[in-house]
Amino acid sequence: MRATELVCDVVIIGGGLAGSALAYALAQTPLSVALVEARDPRRLEQPSFDARATALANGSQRILSTLGIWDSVAASVTPIRSIHISERGRFGVSRILAAEEGVPALGYLLENRILGAALWDALGRAQRFTSIAPARLESLTAGPDEVVARVESQGSETMIRARLAVAADGASSQVRDELGITVIADDYAQHAVILNCLPEVPHAGRAFERFTTDGPVAMLPLTGNRVAAVWTLPRPEAEHVMQLDDREFTRALQASFGYRLGRFAEVGRRSAYPLLRLRSASVVAPRTALIGSAAVNLHPVAGQGFNLALRDVAILAEVLSDSILESGSDADPGAAEPLERYRVWRHKDQDRVAAFTHGLIKFFGYASAPVEVSRGLGLMAFDLIPGAKAALARHTMGLSGRLSRLARGLPLLPPRASS
Ligand SMILES: Cc1cc2nc3c(=O)[nH]c(=O)nc-3n(C[C@H](O)[C@H](O)[C@H](O)COP(=O)(O)OP(=O)(O)OC[C@H]3O[C@@H](n4cnc5c(N)ncnc54)[C@H](O)[C@@H]3O)c2cc1C
Repeated sequence: MRATELVCDVVIIGGGLAGSALAYALAQTPLSVALVEARDPRRLEQPSFDARATALANGSQRILSTLGIWDSVAASVTPIRSIHISERGRFGVSRILAAEEGVPALGYLLENRILGAALWDALGRAQRFTSIAPARLESLTAGPDEVVARVESQGSETMIRARLAVAADGASSQVRDELGITVIADDYAQHAVILNCLPEVPHAGRAFERFTTDGPVAMLPLTGNRVAAVWTLPRPEAEHVMQLDDREFTRALQASFGYRLGRFAEVGRRSAYPLLRLRSASVVAPRTALIGSAAVNLHPVAGQGFNLALRDVAILAEVLSDSILESGSDADPGAAEPLERYRVWRHKDQDRVAAFTHGLIKFFGYASAPVEVSRGLGLMAFDLIPGAKAALARHTMGLSGRLSRLARGLPLLPPRASS
């Protein structure tokens, strides 16, 4: 097979939510970008774009807004006015209210396929952008001056030469494997069963997280009074509920979540995701950066995965823009210096969010009886300590730590430097 050659500044492997958002952010800089995606983006069925919905933190809303994506999805988002945290069979209950935090919403629910379609639509109008999809990465090698990605697409091969490769190819990243980047991984032995349902009682913008002995179950508000259910269960139980007919399934879900939203009048199509905690040993390697689930993959309990990924996107795009500001057309996006800045800037946030998410799972999932009593008390105490709640709220809203320019509403580059 003869290979076509493509030369560009940045090649992104993986066009899920993280990869497509980065491609679009970089389209606002003079860098030329190639995006390689295994699935056909017109069908929007890749893991990023399925029936799942994502709780977008306020920081993510700002990033998407600065990028010019928010307006095209705004009619489809549902603001979260309150988060209600409880534990089945315990007396502790905690509520975080947008009004108490002085914000119009604690975050926004948006279906992945809608965000994915908006990003790929916008990419259709981007300058200096090439998409190669459906296509699979065959191999990737990093040399001192360039990376070479060999990509197979419907019987033809493209050899992409770029100065920087970005791994946005998800939790089982092939780029990571090709480059020998090690990971620390833990299998939670749990699955998240996800589906959309229609409850009897209006959700009124309330999000619910209920901790049960099997795992957390979340109900997140969607448009049309639907809720997105994320039901975490040990693997055998998840396999069992996936086999049930709708009536039996509804009964089981109701028994786990309770009746805070009344009865579920309708339940949608279910899918199950194995849950894995994964952390790449480094988010950079020579001429390579890792973003999204390829860098850090989290349990969905706190709805932080994509929010973290979007901060990867905003910060990587910013350090690359800074090197353009400093060196002009001589800027090398794959040079060690911008990559090191990216690594250092992301480190604390990734550590904190990974530890927080895993801590929640350990705290609620694997405690012995005496701890269970204090768990209830802990939730009550948490409700009574406004400082603790405010800290959690700011954190989950994506507004803590050093914010990127995009999260502050500022463009990556001044207009004269962006073309
Ligand atoms: C049940 C569940 C609920 C969640 N809820 C939330 C939430 O409320 N809030 C939140 O912030 N996060 C949430 N997350 C996390 C969020 O879904 C992920 O963080 C996000 O999807 C990561 O996107 P990604 O683009 O990094 O990876 P992926 O979505 O895995 O995308 C990777 C892409 O790379 C492509 N690809 C893979 N290999 C190759 C290859 N070799 N060649 C070419 N292309 C390739 C794939 O086709 C895919 O499109 C949830 C996760 C789960 C499982």
